[in-house]
Amino acid sequence: MNKETITVTSPLLPDLDEFHTLLKEIWDSKWVTNNGSFHKRLEQALCEYLKVPYISLFTNGTLPLLTSLQALRITGEVITTPYSFVATTHAIWWNGCKPVFVDIDPTNCGMDPDKIEAAITPHTTAIMPVHCYGKPCDMERIQAVADKYNLKVIYDAAHAFGVEVDGESVLNRGDMATLSFHATKVYNTLEGGALVMHDAETKKRIDYLKNFGFAGETEVVGPGINSKMDEVRSAYGLLNLKLVDDAIEMRHQVAIRYREALRDVKGIRFFDDMPGVKHNYSYFPIFVNAEEYGMTRDELYSKMKEQGILGRRYFYPLISTFSTYCGLPSAAPENLPVATRIANEVICLPMHHGLNEGDLNRVLETIVR
Ligand SMILES: *Cc1c(COP(=O)(O)O)cnc(C)c1O
Repeated sequence: MNKETITVTSPLLPDLDEFHTLLKEIWDSKWVTNNGSFHKRLEQALCEYLKVPYISLFTNGTLPLLTSLQALRITGEVITTPYSFVATTHAIWWNGCKPVFVDIDPTNCGMDPDKIEAAITPHTTAIMPVHCYGKPCDMERIQAVADKYNLKVIYDAAHAFGVEVDGESVLNRGDMATLSFHATKVYNTLEGGALVMHDAETKKRIDYLKNFGFAGETEVVGPGINSKMDEVRSAYGLLNLKLVDDAIEMRHQVAIRYREALRDVKGIRFFDDMPGVKHNYSYFPIFVNAEEYGMTRDELYSKMKEQGILGRRYFYPLISTFSTYCGLPSAAPENLPVATRIANEVICLPMHHGLNEGDLNRVLETIVR
């Protein structure tokens, strides 16, 4: 008998009857998008949940990246990480800017603050780091470099929903931070995303830019895009917000089980919790040292696949190897030794709220040797 496939993630879905009740409300109101009541309620609820002052909802997690750079009038060169989902660098490209890759810190897979200064030129205007796997970047040191050179910092926090350091949301750091509510993320609105900012003036500007630049009925203040979230997904998001704490706790239990079982496996490295950090357990990456483990990452990846266990090689290949970017001087592998090595070692294990003991045993039996 074929065993059921274990996927790397599974969407958190709201109760269908409750969703139906809210759909009925939307149908009755005949107001389906353009800053409707569910959109307003979700922005309010997310501000409270995430402990942030202002948020603007988007139709996905890529457009807030684009719009943040536009809103801050970023030009020239933007320093970023090659170890991310490709949307991070695409957002820089779409703004007509040049991405400049710096290497990562192996202890959190985020941008290495020691490497930033050497990448700065007279054209540099911003830094776009990623809280990879929801592990907070070294925000103090990134901000120190940014302040010294008068650069903006926009965090791609697509993985960092609900992540806090010493009780404070990571979303409150830098000039702005972006979120993705894609179905594969810890918290989802099917497709969706958001931009977090610190003041009402910026929120107003972002709300214009995500609605074609309209500031009122007849005035257009800039070449905005259309990236508004609709009422159906806002309602779905309100319901999922009630479930997300339990889902994160179930992920936490999965992480505990993985760590116990993998702690003594030679050649497998993984992350422990960081002191003072409230984690969201969005991913469980393991790093395979082929020599010590006796099998390469790709051999283990294939073995898992044969067993119906679909890990994902996040993030392999590096963004800097894709055809659009590989010609950039900063994309040379010699410039990115840590990211290059880690991209060849990583597998993200199945991690979601719906994994049961049998699933976890199957995953671990395949890896522990
Ligand atoms: C998912 C993701 C995005 C893009 O989000 P979408 O909602 O899929 O557009 C951007 N950056 C990172 C790091 C991501 O993981």
